Amino acid sequence: MIDLETFSAEASGFLASHLKRREHADTRWGAGSDRIELHGLERRSDAEVAAEVAAARSWQAQCFDAGYAWITGPLAYGGRELAAAYERRWRELEQEFAAPDRTSLNIGLGMLVPAILAHGSPELRAEVLPGLNRGDLVGCQLFSEPGAGSDLANIATTAVRHGDGWMIRGHKVWTSKAQFGDLGLCIARTGAGGPPQRGLTVFLVDMHAPGVEIRPLRQMNGRASFNEVFLDDVGVSAARRVGDVDDGWSVVRTTLTNERAGVGSGATAPGPRLLARILCLARHSGAASEPCVRQQLADIYTRVRLVDLTAQRVQAAGRAGRAAGPEGSIGKLAHAGNLQRMSAAVTSILGPRLAADTGEWGEYVWSDLVLGAPGVRVAGGTDEIQRNVIAERVLGLPREPEASA
Ligand SMILES: Cc1cc2nc3c(=O)[nH]c(=O)nc-3n(C[C@H](O)[C@H](O)[C@H](O)COP(=O)(O)OP(=O)(O)OC[C@H]3O[C@@H](n4cnc5c(N)ncnc54)[C@H](O)[C@@H]3O)c2cc1C
Repeated sequence: MIDLETFSAEASGFLASHLKRREHADTRWGAGSDRIELHGLERRSDAEVAAEVAAARSWQAQCFDAGYAWITGPLAYGGRELAAAYERRWRELEQEFAAPDRTSLNIGLGMLVPAILAHGSPELRAEVLPGLNRGDLVGCQLFSEPGAGSDLANIATTAVRHGDGWMIRGHKVWTSKAQFGDLGLCIARTGAGGPPQRGLTVFLVDMHAPGVEIRPLRQMNGRASFNEVFLDDVGVSAARRVGDVDDGWSVVRTTLTNERAGVGSGATAPGPRLLARILCLARHSGAASEPCVRQQLADIYTRVRLVDLTAQRVQAAGRAGRAAGPEGSIGKLAHAGNLQRMSAAVTSILGPRLAADTGEWGEYVWSDLVLGAPGVRVAGGTDEIQRNVIAERVLGLPREPEASA
């Protein structure tokens, strides 16, 4: 097996030959571009988003072909089967370079891949895992519906047997990246009776199949990141079922646990870099000498460190071979709260300069954070739902009473 130092030297060589080094403009006012990395929350036109997705796919393919896209994954499905320390080293090294933002692939890589690896048949894994990990296939998550978000077991979409396969009919909503999607992980009702979590089955829907209609939903930051998806008798082969018939809830749990761990983990949480930029703004504007702002920033610093330490615990658990657990909910809740606090801090520093572009470097750009942060408190399970998970699964408090009880 390759040792970590040789791996690092090879990875550094690969990165240097493909990318430019990142400019460290985070702490110097007015230096370089004032762009803030918000991992998908930035205001972008549809054309810019499409270009971002194309760049992400291309970079993912180059990384996959060189053995850096799925470092811990099984050899049989295109991974490299190395320990998590190698993955961590790769991320640290990649941070030094101006790599394309791969947030658009997060659902496929961070949710579909672990769910299929844990619950899919060997044939299904062999069929789709290399493509998902190479960025040839973009994944999306067809869970939420108009009448089922937090209460996901309440879904109305149905799947009925049709010949050798299944026919799916229903209406999904908030489906991020569906407009670029190739595969949708879809939960549908296949059985009746018993508790609502029973009788659900998960399928991989071909997003280009006849009967799939995608309608974009525009958000307050101007982006149309998510969509309504109408499934009008969409055929799915039996081979595209993930997990057992009527046992889809275990697939849902794996997917959501990985989603929360992903949002809260250091890999996606841009906290320290954002905080450095806010400090730069506070110094430049003179707000850094105001006691209330100083208190606000000290509070954010402490909480950003806590998210970082929690992420390290989640990653350490992963390295020890433990599946992602409720710590992911703590990280997700804390990260969403930190973005909200940062948003409040820049709002108090900038005031009306957030609402209109004066042309000043590094000011109006913060409106992206202010308009994007609220969605993070909802996506992947709302703050209240994370608190329920923490109360029940971490603190051991009694379960929430059923509405019908
Ligand atoms: C940016 C973004 C991206 C998304 N991407 C996807 C995606 O790709 N795929 C997908 O399937 N879904 C996606 N979603 C949907 C997301 O998972 C749901 O919006 C979320 O689970 C909440 O469901 P809901 O919108 O139906 O709100 P509801 O569940 O109706 O909740 C409304 C309010 O009631 C509160 N509430 C509900 N139940 C409880 C309870 N038991 N205890 C306490 N409070 C409660 C909630 O916290 C919330 O404040 C996305 C959402 C956003 C904002």
